[in-house]
Amino acid sequence: MIVAIDGPAGSGKTTVAKLLAEKTGIFYLDTGATYRALTLKALEEGADLDNEEVLREIAENLNFQIKEGRFYLDDKDVSDQIRTPLIDKSISAVVCHPGVREVMVNLQRNIVRGKDCVVEGRDTTTIVFPDADYKFFLDANPSTRSRRRFSEMKGKKLKVSFDEVKNDLERRDHADLSRVSGPLRRSEDAFYLDTSDLAVEEVVSFLAKRINR
Ligand code: C5P
Repeated sequence: MIVAIDGPAGSGKTTVAKLLAEKTGIFYLDTGATYRALTLKALEEGADLDNEEVLREIAENLNFQIKEGRFYLDDKDVSDQIRTPLIDKSISAVVCHPGVREVMVNLQRNIVRGKDCVVEGRDTTTIVFPDADYKFFLDANPSTRSRRRFSEMKGKKLKVSFDEVKNDLERRDHADLSRVSGPLRRSEDAFYLDTSDLAVEEVVSFLAKRINR
């Protein structure tokens, strides 16, 4: 069984997908984390983020693993390192290349192969798993999304202002919606849910109910 969840940054999909996977006892894949790990690797190698060929090669050789919910790059736990403002700033330049996305979509499908899984991102309902058993599109208004992301970063003691978070979110929304390859798009057969006024538990139980029906 594949449950695919897409939505913009701050829509709550990562938190919800993780809890839903726990509740249903199945594997969880955050596809954003795979792109974040790739961006970290590209920055470490000093790669030119506009060079599709170089980035594609880095993606093809990416040593990325998930163990007990933690993300590993070259056997090092990078779960916190991939969620910093530096990665947020650089990632749109990496994920826009069609050749890079092709390699990453294969990597994501390989991670999930043979497993029941909750998978979330921007194109999981449209490109990665168009035949998923259940598809959801989570959304929230921009101010709620900025507030959520800001408190997540504060919780991690990252030095960042609300305006910086808001501007970064707007910039990433624009990049996610306008890229040619794998853009953020609401698939017609995905169930749409605005989470602006809902608590995390409410969203999780709503999704779980639809799956159990
Ligand atoms: O979901 P998260 O905010 O961690 O994703 C980080 C970035 O990775 C997003 O801004 C988006 O551009 C990109 N992404 C993507 N396709 C996915 C998941 C994430 O392009 N399936």
